[in-house]
Amino acid sequence: MKKEIIKKKIKPQLAKSSKATRAKKYVYFFGKGQADGTADMKNLLGGKGANLAEMTNLRIPVPAGFTITTEGCTYYYQNKQTYPKELTKQVDAALVRVEKIMGRNYGDTNDPLLLSVRSGARRSMPGMMETVLNLGLTTKTISGLIKRTGNERFVYDAYRRLLMMYADVVMEKAAGIEPTDGEGIRQKLERAMDLMKEKKGVHQDTDLTSDDLKILCEKFKQIIKTTLKKEFPDDPYEQLWGGIGAVFHSWVGKRAVSYRKIEGIPEDWGTAVNVQAMVFGNTGDTSATGVAFTRNPATGEDIFYGEWLPNAQGEDVVAGIRTPNPVNKAGKTSDTEHLSALEEMMPDLYNQLFKIQKRLERHYTDMQDIEFTIEEGKLWMLQTRTGKRNGQAAIRMAVEMARSKLISKETALLRVNPEQIDELLHPSVDPEAEKRAVELVKGLPAGPGGAIGRIVFTADDAQAWAKQGEKVILVRNETSPEDVHGMHAAEAILTARGGMTSHAALVARGWGKCCIVGANALDIDAQNKIIRANSKVLHEGDWITLNGSRGRVFEGQLKLLPADPANNPWYLELMKWADQNRKLKIRTNADRPEDSKIARTFGAEGIGLCRTEHMFFQAERIRSVREMILSDTLEGREKALVKLLPMQKDDFIGIFKAMEGLPVTIRLLDPPLHEFLPKTDAELHELSLEMGVPFEQLKTKNESLHEFNPMLGHRGCRLGITYPEIYEMQVQAIMEAACELTQKKVKVIPEIMIPLVGHVNELESMRRLTIQTAEAVQKKNKVKVNYLVGTMIELPRACVTSDEIATQADFYSFGTNDLTQTVYGFSRDDSGRFLPYYQEHHILKDDPFITIDIEGVGAFMEIAVEKGRKVKKNLKIGICGEHGGEPRSVEFCHHLHLDYVSCSPFRVPIARLAAAQAAIKERMEKNKKKKK
Ligand code: PEP
Ligand code: MG
Repeated sequence: MKKEIIKKKIKPQLAKSSKATRAKKYVYFFGKGQADGTADMKNLLGGKGANLAEMTNLRIPVPAGFTITTEGCTYYYQNKQTYPKELTKQVDAALVRVEKIMGRNYGDTNDPLLLSVRSGARRSMPGMMETVLNLGLTTKTISGLIKRTGNERFVYDAYRRLLMMYADVVMEKAAGIEPTDGEGIRQKLERAMDLMKEKKGVHQDTDLTSDDLKILCEKFKQIIKTTLKKEFPDDPYEQLWGGIGAVFHSWVGKRAVSYRKIEGIPEDWGTAVNVQAMVFGNTGDTSATGVAFTRNPATGEDIFYGEWLPNAQGEDVVAGIRTPNPVNKAGKTSDTEHLSALEEMMPDLYNQLFKIQKRLERHYTDMQDIEFTIEEGKLWMLQTRTGKRNGQAAIRMAVEMARSKLISKETALLRVNPEQIDELLHPSVDPEAEKRAVELVKGLPAGPGGAIGRIVFTADDAQAWAKQGEKVILVRNETSPEDVHGMHAAEAILTARGGMTSHAALVARGWGKCCIVGANALDIDAQNKIIRANSKVLHEGDWITLNGSRGRVFEGQLKLLPADPANNPWYLELMKWADQNRKLKIRTNADRPEDSKIARTFGAEGIGLCRTEHMFFQAERIRSVREMILSDTLEGREKALVKLLPMQKDDFIGIFKAMEGLPVTIRLLDPPLHEFLPKTDAELHELSLEMGVPFEQLKTKNESLHEFNPMLGHRGCRLGITYPEIYEMQVQAIMEAACELTQKKVKVIPEIMIPLVGHVNELESMRRLTIQTAEAVQKKNKVKVNYLVGTMIELPRACVTSDEIATQADFYSFGTNDLTQTVYGFSRDDSGRFLPYYQEHHILKDDPFITIDIEGVGAFMEIAVEKGRKVKKNLKIGICGEHGGEPRSVEFCHHLHLDYVSCSPFRVPIARLAAAQAAIKERMEKNKKKKK
C-alpha cells in the first residue's frame, strides 16, 4: 500500500492561513519508554493523553500512539471546523514513529497496524464522547490481518465492530444526521445482527462463525449505504481522519453538553484526541481485557479490585453485555464465587498487573482506575486515571493513605469533597424491615445507601416525574450516557445488566447516588412498562426500595434508617483532623430540641439561628397567635401573648438543655404577621367560628394586613418596634427559661438577635427593650445570666452603616438570604422562575441563593466586617443564611475572618470539612508565596 498516494487523495479540511500557528505543536507522541508529554499536562493533552504519556515515561507497557491536543480542538471550533495546517504533517510524523515501534504499518496489506481513536478531556467525562476502534481495516488489509493472526473469525468480528462504530459515530452522529426517534444506524445494524443470531439459532455474539460474520459485514455495508446514502470508506486514512473529526465533534454532542452542564465543565476546554495502536483482548483464550481499581471504589478498602473478561474487547466489560469476572479471589462475592478470577486463570499476568497497579497508586499517590488488555499473553496498559469513588470510599481511602504516610493529613482533608460527606449521612434500609420484605432481585451494590421510589423506565420520564415532585427509581437494562439527565433526577438507578464498572455504576458512584447494577434476574419489558422479578409483576409507578449497599431490591416502601456516621471510624478520624485544622467555628440552624441534638452529634458548637416564628406555627399555638394578630387593642394582644409565653418558655428550655454549655442564638419574630392568617374564605369561616369573631371583621382585618411586597414590608424588627409587646414576651420567655435552668446548674448562653435592622435607631430601640426586659426577669428570679444582644446583618444599609450599628450590637450574624435578595433585588420567593434560565444561558454561573455572590453580596459583607470591627475590635460575627453550609461560601467566610458559620444540622460536618480545607489552602498559598 502506497501511503503517499492515499494521503494526497484524502486530505482533511485545513485552515486557509496558518501563519500565526506555524510553530505550534499539536501532536504529542508516546511509545516505548519515551513520551513528549507528562502527567501534569492534562489541560493540553486531556487526562487520558497525559496519563498515557506518564505511564510510557514510567516504562509501563503502553501501546504506542499520539495525542492531538485540546488546543487542536479549540482551533477546530474557532476556525469553522477546520484543522490547523501543520496538523497533517505532525500526525503523519507521529504515525511513522508508532509504526516503527509496533513493527507494522498502517494500511499495510500484509501486516496492517490498526488504530483506535479516543477522546480525552481535562476532566474525565466517562462515556460522554466518542471512540472508534479497529481503524485501518479495509477490504485490502483484512487478509493481511487474517494471515498474521491466523484467526479469520476474530478479524471479521473486528471488522463488524468497526463498521458499526464508524457508521454510528462518524457517518451519522458527527455528520449531524442522527434521527430523533432513536432509530439510528446503530439500532439498524444491531437488529441485523440479532436477525442473524436468530437465523442461526444462537444467543451470543461469540456464537457467530467467521462465515456468519463475513456475511454480516456485507449486510452491514449495504444497510450503511442505503441508510446513510454513503459507502463505508474503504481507505485507512479516510477512516483515520473521519475518526479524529468525530471525536472533536463529540465535544459538542448532546450527551457531552448535558454532562458538562451537570458537572460544571467549561465548554471552551475542548477534548484531546488519542490515536493509539490497537491491541486485542479478543484474539483467543490467551487474550483478555479488564478494568480495575487500585482500591475498592465502593467501600474504600485497600484491596486491588476489578473485573475482567477472557477473549473480549474492552467495550464488552464496560457496556455490561457480559457480566464480568472478578480479577482476584479477594474480590469475589457470593454472587461471583463461581466465576474464575484472573489471579487463578493467568497468575503470572495477574502478578504483573498487580505490581503495576501498586506502582501507579504510589506514583500518583491516589486510587487509580485502570484499563488493561492482554493480547496473546502480553499485558498492555490502556489507561490510568484517578478513580471516581463514593463518599464513604473517599473518606476511608484518604484516612488510610494518610495513616500509611502515602499522603499528608492535609492532603487527605483536601481529597474529600465536602459534599461527599453527605452520602455518609444518608439513610439506609432498615435491616428489620428487609427481613419481612419481598425481595424482588439481587444485583451488584454500585452506589451506597437506601432509596425508595416509583418505577420509571426512561430517563425522560424520570426527569418529568421528578419535576412533578415524585420520587422515582430509573429501571433500565443498562444505562448509556444519553440517560444522564434522568439518572440525575432519579432517587436511585437499577439496571439488569452490567458490572461495577458499567456506565450506571460509574456515574452513580461519582454522584454518590444509590445504585444497583447487574440485577440479572430482572426481566424488563420497557415497551409495556412492566418488570418481572421473583414471579412478581410490577408496573410503572409502583414503589420499590433499593439497598444500594447490599445490592438488594424490594417491593414497596421499606423503612429507611437515618445514617450512622458516629460508628464510622474513618469519618470520625477525618473530622478530628478537620477540627484541628479549621479556624471557623460551626454552629447550626435549629428550632427544635430534636434537631439541636442531631446537630450536636454532628459536631455543632452552638446554635447560630433559632427561628422563633416556627414555634408559632404549631397547631395548638396558632389560635393564640391569630388572636394576638387580630386584636385591635394592646390589652387584647397582651392577653393572647400571655397564653403564648409558657409555650415559648418550654421551647427555649428544651433547646437550652440540648445545647447545654454552648451558645444559642435566638432570633426574635421576623416574618410579616399576615403569614399566620388563613388564606381562603373557607379557612376564615372556620377561624371565625373558632374565635367567635364575625367573619366580615376577620376578613377586613386580614385584608388590612395585606402587603404588596411583604418581603420588604412590616416584618423583622419593624414588627418589634410597632408591637413591642411581642418581642417583650419573647425576651421574657427566653430569660425565664435561662434563669430556671441556671438555677438548676444547667449552663445556658443565650444570644438574643434582632432581625432585619437597617438603621442603628431600630437596633438601639430594640436593644433597650431587650435589656430592660431581660434585667427585669433576672431581678425577679434573683439569677444572673450572661447574655448578648446582637443583630442580623441582612440589609445593604446595615452593611454600609455597620460602624454605627456595631455600637449597639454585641454580635452580628449575616442573614445572607435576605442580603442576597436585597443586594441583587432578586425576590427570594420568585427568582426560581428565571435563575435556572440565567444559569443555562450563562448569565450567572451560580445561583446566588446557594453560593454567595462574592463580588456583590460578598463586597457588602466585607464592608460590614471592616466597619464593625473598626468600632468593636472583637465583634463576634457569624453567618446563618443558607450559604453557611455551602463549601465555597464557607471558604469565603473563612477569608472574611468570621467567627462561625451556621447551617442546617446535616450540613454541619460538610461545613467542618470545608472550613478545614479553606484554612489548609490558605496556609499552602502563604507558604508558596514565602518560598517565592
Ligand atoms: C437570612 O435572611 O439569611 C436569614 C437567615 O433569615 P431568614 O431566612 O429567616 O429570613
Ligand atoms: Mg432574613
